[in-house]
Amino acid sequence: MLMPANTLMNQPAISSALPDAVIKALRTVIGAGKANLHEPSFNGNEWVYLKECLDSTFVSSVGSYVDRFEKDLATFTGARHAVAVVNGTAALHLALLLAGVKEGDEVLLPSLTFIATANAVAYCKAVPHFIDCNEHTLGVDPAALRDYLQRSCEVRDGHCFNKSSGRIVRALVPMHTFGHPVDIDGLLAVAADYQLALVEDAAESLGSYRAGRHTGTHGLLGVLSFNGNKTITTGGGGAILTNDAALAKLAKHLSTTAKIPHAWEYSHDVVGYNYRMPNLNAALGCAQLEQLPDLLANKRRLFEKYRSAFADVAGVQLFHEPADCHSNYWLQTLVLDEKFAAQRDAILQATNAAGLMTRPVWTLAHQQLPFRDCPSMPLPVAQSLAQRLINIPSSAFLGAVGAA
Ligand SMILES: *Cc1c(COP(=O)(O)O)cnc(C)c1O
Repeated sequence: MLMPANTLMNQPAISSALPDAVIKALRTVIGAGKANLHEPSFNGNEWVYLKECLDSTFVSSVGSYVDRFEKDLATFTGARHAVAVVNGTAALHLALLLAGVKEGDEVLLPSLTFIATANAVAYCKAVPHFIDCNEHTLGVDPAALRDYLQRSCEVRDGHCFNKSSGRIVRALVPMHTFGHPVDIDGLLAVAADYQLALVEDAAESLGSYRAGRHTGTHGLLGVLSFNGNKTITTGGGGAILTNDAALAKLAKHLSTTAKIPHAWEYSHDVVGYNYRMPNLNAALGCAQLEQLPDLLANKRRLFEKYRSAFADVAGVQLFHEPADCHSNYWLQTLVLDEKFAAQRDAILQATNAAGLMTRPVWTLAHQQLPFRDCPSMPLPVAQSLAQRLINIPSSAFLGAVGAA
């Protein structure tokens, strides 16, 4: 649409002061040149393990690296069981099925999340039901959730029913945004009171702890992702965490086409999935896990560097880990003050033009085309944050001692 000239003239000039200040702060940490949002680091045994995998010919979904990766993941996270699968989305799908999510159920999840969380609910033919988040964790707010459930749901016959849709609300899927843990104790209490299975989307939070306990190990089941942009990568990959031996066994069974173990017969007892992680990917994962403590130390150091760089930039806050939490700082995040929200796009424009890759947060899930008609509580905090969050270059090597 063409605007009359006088309207254009009356537009307030967009000042470049804030974008310039952000670029200057980023440059003090990153130095000259370009920076991606998140690059993987391969500085360990990746080549050795991958070659061993090729030499053995066990490249597919059977092999010793899969067993080792699962064992190493369980050790690192403190979960009793870890089941490696093809990606985080598949892990979420299986975890929801294992939590008892059925066709026609509703599942509570944050609107401020990557689309995969909602997609996994839809794969179960269940209905996503969107919940608001908390400004200090960026995750589901237990107080707001409890207040909403009190008004909109009722517990009867051991199930939680949505009073307006009549559907069973079966599960709650909090997500630990950018690696920052939600208030999981608050959510466990709500889940217990409302008969909800709690499945943690910990796709972004490998190496993050709340009250000393690893994310993804508080609820019935938890889910990790090892996509190329996550803290460690297997190329593509994911895992299900649980302390329940029977659920772990079922996860493995369902992810392996539900084949009944037998020396030569192909018999399957339910409709299963081809979701097992291949040995090649697990080999990469084993090498990456060995470097995880160093990667986490670098990411924390990067946060400290950004903290001093942004200390004097008015109008933006660098997001820090919530109280009683130890975050992995997967993606470093700027939060614009409300009165500067209108400058977000100018900041994105200027930083990306300068070769400094920045990104806004995801479009809220309840606004995405496939989920527009899904039930939702009022989402004032998520809606405000969606206008004000900017992720900045977060690769671990940027925080290495002696970098820039
Ligand atoms: C990355 C991610 C996933 C999905 O993981 P994939 O391995 O990419 O399938 C799910 N949820 C969240 C919040 C994620 O960030």
